[in-house]
Amino acid sequence: MILVSACLLGHNCKYNGGNNDCPAVHSYLEGKDYVVFCPERASGLPAPRLPSEIRDGRVWSKAGDDVTEEFRLGAEKALAFCKSHGVTAAVLKARSPSCGVHAVYDGSFSGRVVPGMGVTARLLAENGITLMDEEDL
Ligand code: SF4
Repeated sequence: MILVSACLLGHNCKYNGGNNDCPAVHSYLEGKDYVVFCPERASGLPAPRLPSEIRDGRVWSKAGDDVTEEFRLGAEKALAFCKSHGVTAAVLKARSPSCGVHAVYDGSFSGRVVPGMGVTARLLAENGITLMDEEDL
């Protein structure tokens, strides 16, 4: 079973109220079993919402609010969802502060990217789930 970032399949859960619908993800999933999830929406954050980035090990909204606990809650809910659905792999959205697999934005809201993982991606990896992003497909 594969977990997929909901925004990659057209769900309007992205911070700006839109999505990241990705044809490569649709193609990859053909004939496979998968479930979709958005950790930020699951945490109770609205869509649209302010963008957030990781800096110094915590998550900050663009307005300067510390939203780390919301992001941790979303990660815990994603892990519980994976366990209840027998998920062993995940296709997650690149560079998201929740879902980023290989890199994340650097916390300056300037578009700069640094190596690292989103909060949910890290928790899933620590629990043995194989991760890829849409750019790996
Ligand atoms: Fe997409 Fe993940 Fe952000 Fe939700 S938290 S909008 S699934 S990248």
